[in-house]
Amino acid sequence: MSDQPRVEIYTKADCPYCEKAKDLFDSKDIDYVEYNVTGDEERFEEMIERADGRKTAPEVFIDDELIGGWDDTSALEETGELDAKLGIADDTEDEVVEHRKLIIAGTGIAGLTAAIYAGRANNDPLVIEGDEPGGQLTLTTDVANYPGFPEGIGGPELVNNMKEQAKQFGADLKNGIIDSVERLEQGSPLLENGPGAGTDDTRPFRVELTNGDVYTADALIAASGASARTLGIPGEDELMGYGLSTCATCDGAFFRGEDMLVVGGGDAAMEEATFLTKFADTVYIAHRREEFRAEDYWIDRVEEKVEDGDIEIMKNTELVEVHGSQEAGVDHVTLVRNEKGHPTDRLDDPETEEFDFDVGAVFLAIGHTPNTEYLEGTGVKMDDEGYLRTMGGAGGGQTETDVPGIFGAGDVVDYHYQQAVTAAGMGSKAALDADEYLEDLERAQSAGEAEAAAADD
Ligand SMILES: Cc1cc2nc3c(=O)[nH]c(=O)nc-3n(C[C@H](O)[C@H](O)[C@H](O)COP(=O)(O)OP(=O)(O)OC[C@H]3O[C@@H](n4cnc5c(N)ncnc54)[C@H](O)[C@@H]3O)c2cc1C
Repeated sequence: MSDQPRVEIYTKADCPYCEKAKDLFDSKDIDYVEYNVTGDEERFEEMIERADGRKTAPEVFIDDELIGGWDDTSALEETGELDAKLGIADDTEDEVVEHRKLIIAGTGIAGLTAAIYAGRANNDPLVIEGDEPGGQLTLTTDVANYPGFPEGIGGPELVNNMKEQAKQFGADLKNGIIDSVERLEQGSPLLENGPGAGTDDTRPFRVELTNGDVYTADALIAASGASARTLGIPGEDELMGYGLSTCATCDGAFFRGEDMLVVGGGDAAMEEATFLTKFADTVYIAHRREEFRAEDYWIDRVEEKVEDGDIEIMKNTELVEVHGSQEAGVDHVTLVRNEKGHPTDRLDDPETEEFDFDVGAVFLAIGHTPNTEYLEGTGVKMDDEGYLRTMGGAGGGQTETDVPGIFGAGDVVDYHYQQAVTAAGMGSKAALDADEYLEDLERAQSAGEAEAAAADD
């Protein structure tokens, strides 16, 4: 009999988070029983009862203990508690699991493209999945603008194809989250006998995962993306991808003819609202203050659209709930308004008005947060918001950072374009730049060894 605990996952059709939960257990080689509740009323009722009344999928159980949905499961994964519950925790402390030439942080489009290129260049990449295996694109069921797919392609399918391609070229994909990257001090026991020993460079990097595993690597490609900020309001989790979106360029065309709400007051909100006028009946912008943060250029463009009757602005207004269903999409929203601004801070103020508003789609444009915290110990250059700074420009080395051996690609660098195809382009550049760097290292190392051998003669 297997010692593995019994894992059960309740899933339903068209549920990206159910796929993520299954992928997580697959990546750990853990067997599970899947109950698909779509169209199975009895199972659905069973799931609700076992999940303390919650009506969302997935619901994960380990040995009858309710773990919860994807957020709960990935939170346990982050702390290493999931492995402990599964009996596969690794207790080795500060022992290097392995040295790799190249570690890639992230399995979004940038990380996977880098992995394909790095695998083909024989750089044997180890690709760490992070807390969102497959990245942001797994949240969308229809990618209509990725070249080569005239009928469009599902985000998870595109990502899975890329994973297969990366594995075919020798990339190792590993479930885990990088907690920290450090440049090793000379004299560190981790350097003894390892590459970089006795030299004055800071390789290899020490890469520690949140479960305590430690790797060393000669080079690192940070392709850890940026997470769109959300509001944490009721209806958000359930309707994300079903009429609620964080990407107008990606999803706007699916809601042709609908009234649409854009939430935000910066450049992104103005740009998205302007873009959405191509499809919407009317675009409404809800902004929590009186003044927009956006540049004049964008405000002027929005005002032109207001004059044309395509956009209406709702100032001092905040979104507090999204209503609808995954089957029928967004039906309406609840908004609050107070002329003094920031109405959610003034819910007790009698002048705060709460009202329902009919829209068929909602776009959150309240910014992104780059996933770069784990790099802070390297001292690598970032901008004020935490986006990685790379060389850019023309010619080779565009993805180099100011720390030799650390490269950046995709949304973690690019706060402007933030598209799958641009992330893929940068991923390929980062792998090519890293390859050149690793070859230079090897040449320098061989020359050093030849010199030492000649001195010994
Ligand atoms: C709902 C939605 C729909 C979209 N639709 C489209 C579309 O139709 N077309 C289009 O071109 N673009 C679309 N986009 C934008 C597109 O998804 C992104 O531009 C693209 O995914 C960026 O890829 P990336 O690899 O740079 O980052 P991400 O996709 O964000 O991937 C980042 C990866 O890094 C990992 N990671 C994060 N932190 C760590 C860590 N500490 N350690 C290890 N790994 C880590 C994450 O787990 C993840 O795997 C959409 C975005 C969203 C949110």
